[in-house]
Formats: sequence, C-alpha cells, structure tokens
Amino acid sequence: MEDSMTQSDCVFCKIANEEIPSKKLYEDDEIIAFDDINPETPVHFLVVPKRHIETLDDIKDDDAPLVAKMILIGTKLAREKGIAKDGYRQVINCREGGGQVVFHLHMHILGGRQIGQRLA
Ligand code: 5GP
Ligand code: ZN
Repeated sequence: MEDSMTQSDCVFCKIANEEIPSKKLYEDDEIIAFDDINPETPVHFLVVPKRHIETLDDIKDDDAPLVAKMILIGTKLAREKGIAKDGYRQVINCREGGGQVVFHLHMHILGGRQIGQRLA
C-alpha cells in the first residue's frame, strides 16, 4: 500500500500495514500499539499513529485529538500491563537531538522497574 499516509521505506508504516510483524497490543483505524523490539525496561511498548508523521515537530493543531488519544491508549495499556500503580514513563523523542531513531512519530511507554529521575 502506498499513499500519502504511508512512506514505503518506513519501518512503522510497514508495521501499521502488517508488512512486517509486531507483537500488537492495540489497533484501531488511526493508531497501533506494539511491544518495542529492543525493550529498555521490563515493559516497553510504543503507541504509533498509522499516518506517517515524521516527528513531534510536525504535528498540527488538527492533530490534537490524535495525540491526546495516543496518550490515553498508553495509559490504558499501562494499566492492562500492570505497571500503572507503581508508575511508568511516556516519552516522545524529537529528531536526532532528542534521541529519535525511527522518523515516524511514536510514544514510548516504559515501566516495570524503577526509572531514574534523570532523563539522559
Ligand atoms: P526512537 O529512538 O526513534 O524514539 O525509538 C525507536 C524505537 O523503535 C526503539 O526503541 C527501537 O527498539 C524500536 N524499533 C525499531 N525498529 C523496530 C521494529 O522493527 N519493531 C519494533 N517492535 N520496534 C522497533
Ligand atoms: Zn511511517
């Protein structure tokens, strides 16, 4: 599938289009969530819009409901995974300076162990 919503060389577009497999936790018409392939904490999953948005810096005012929904899905899945009571971290890295490696907007949810107060 190739249209304006999709970038053919993007790993998260391929996951959203089921061209490459993932351990899927949630899916609707505009968002998918799946386990990170290289977890940094015992629970580490990603919440990803299906539409190819490169970075956090590319979101527009009209995307506010989408971004709010990403956060809410993250909180629900965190509860389902049993990490909400102890607490967890939601992170969006923006561009190289923020540590972004995959240039398709995504939110990390990290938990299941104590995370340090420092971010870097
Ligand atoms: P970033 O540094 O861009 O915020 O994070 C990208 C994340 O995507 C990394 O934690 C990395 O492990 C994860 N990732 C990269 N490629 C794949 C993949 O093919 N499948 C899954 N499930 N996660 C991936
Ligand atoms: Zn993409």
